[in-house]
Amino acid sequence: MPHVVTQACCGDASCVYACPVNCIHPTPDEPDFGIAEMLYIDPNTCVDCGACVTACPVGAISAGHRLTEGQERFIDINASMYGMTRSGAAGPDIGLTEARFPVDRGRRLPLAPIAHPDALDVDGAVSVGIVGSGPSAMYAADDLLRYPQVSVTMYERLDRPFGLSRFGVAPDHQSTRSVMRLFDDIARNPRLEIRLNTEVGRDVTLDELRRRHTAVIWAGGAPTDKPLPIDGADADGVTSATSFVGWYNDHPDFADLDVDLSGREVVVIGTGNVALDVARILVRDPDDLADTSISATALSALRTSGVRRVTVLGRRGAEHAAFTLPELVGLVDGGIPVTVDAQDLPSPGSTTDPTSRTKLEVLAEIAARPVPTGPHIRFAFGRAPREITVVDGRARGVVVDRPDGFQELLDAGLVLTSIGYRGRPVPGLPFDADRGVIPHDAGRVRDESGPVPGMYVTGWIKRGPSGFIGTNKTDSGETVASLVDDLESGRLPVRASSRRSLLRVGRR
Ligand SMILES: Cc1cc2nc3c(=O)[nH]c(=O)nc-3n(C[C@H](O)[C@H](O)[C@H](O)COP(=O)(O)OP(=O)(O)OC[C@H]3O[C@@H](n4cnc5c(N)ncnc54)[C@H](O)[C@@H]3O)c2cc1C
Ligand code: SF4
Ligand code: SF4
Repeated sequence: MPHVVTQACCGDASCVYACPVNCIHPTPDEPDFGIAEMLYIDPNTCVDCGACVTACPVGAISAGHRLTEGQERFIDINASMYGMTRSGAAGPDIGLTEARFPVDRGRRLPLAPIAHPDALDVDGAVSVGIVGSGPSAMYAADDLLRYPQVSVTMYERLDRPFGLSRFGVAPDHQSTRSVMRLFDDIARNPRLEIRLNTEVGRDVTLDELRRRHTAVIWAGGAPTDKPLPIDGADADGVTSATSFVGWYNDHPDFADLDVDLSGREVVVIGTGNVALDVARILVRDPDDLADTSISATALSALRTSGVRRVTVLGRRGAEHAAFTLPELVGLVDGGIPVTVDAQDLPSPGSTTDPTSRTKLEVLAEIAARPVPTGPHIRFAFGRAPREITVVDGRARGVVVDRPDGFQELLDAGLVLTSIGYRGRPVPGLPFDADRGVIPHDAGRVRDESGPVPGMYVTGWIKRGPSGFIGTNKTDSGETVASLVDDLESGRLPVRASSRRSLLRVGRR
């Protein structure tokens, strides 16, 4: 049985470059790459060599016969992208016939290109400062350090590196978190120094960095929540999912967060993957979390939790749910009790998009199951939050507008808002306030008068809070390519002081 990509895929495309027969799509140079929810293996072309398994940093690929029970649906999910229906494993027939990635089987596909960078065509040493140490920073450093003349200094405000791959990814998603092993490998390069507890703008200014380094890349992420613009949103008991995630992931900024889990009902506003993460953590058996990286405080709070139901609230219909298919499948087939009202679901045939259609099929399957009796997640689609009811300063429920024109009050002892992230303006750099990003041309920071010399950007603060960990690899690749091009063309001068300045920074 061919190999299969499963839930943990974070889209870094390492497997694409490892595969000898180019059967993993979309590749970074195919149009769907930026929007695909994961990558998919063409079962007819795969020759079962296993090269992709070794290349994958998060263990997302398995031989078909090695899949665990909860992963079998991924056989269909991979095959369906190539217009094939199911292959004989357990699970429903998803019955798709059109291919998202049609493959011309009469033609040998070209292998994906592998870059072999030479030494930089510049005279002297290059020192690059990177602000942040999240995935985008690590991928940028990895790309830069292939050039022997380059040294990188990373500045990270927290006491531990790697950004949201440590402080965002859920503790029970161990395989995704294992991407930090790759980042550890990158960090072992002697030409990379990571300076922890160093906030740019507080401990060192951006101007200082720009004087010290040949170039500076801002990779500070998009750390702010979008606000929920309804009455009651500032009451006690209303918390952003960001803070809650930080709390259970041991983020130092959220160690003292007041999380009250004594009520039976929690409402999560939003239907993205982060909403599913927080809902799942709230209903999971704490014993299943004990061996993960979850914070001790969160684990002990969950052990005494009174929460029995977590309602994941979607303003729009189920066909517009923001979570990805792999996350939904991971939840449902991973044994987490979930329920949804059949009357809230449109028919799968109402959408032509194969991924949305499969999501609706999975949801319909859930709706046909008996309502779980223990702690569980309930999806409530098509209900727009209107107001949070507050008693004695504390949230007690969420009033929602239903599609039938009526209002409904959902009880809630805790309300978690998960409606997206935004970047914050960086003093001294231009900012697009509408999109919450730093404006750029292929990673070169740009203001009204053109490129800001020596200043680059990557990651969420460059493209907005979208995509997976691996998406930052292609994103940072673009930024580094621009930086290298500027160096080699002489637009970015290599100063004689770069090396001395780097050594001084290293001893600070
Ligand atoms: C809750 C959550 C769960 C997620 N789960 C997954 C998942 O399961 N799988 C997946 O593929 N993707 C997941 N993602 C997406 C993934 O984490 C992001 O794509 C990725 O982390 C973005 O990388 P980044 O480097 O742009 O930003 P970040 O990861 O946010 O890194 C930015 C870094 O910059 C530092 N920093 C900021 N300002 C400064 C400053 N002034 N000075 C010094 N340092 C600074 C921050 O402390 C941080 O370490 C998740 C995201 C969230 C929010
Ligand atoms: S097992 Fe080999 S042929 Fe199959 S997808 Fe992986 S690398 Fe490609
Ligand atoms: S995480 Fe990367 S290497 Fe692994 S399956 Fe996804 S794209 Fe391929």
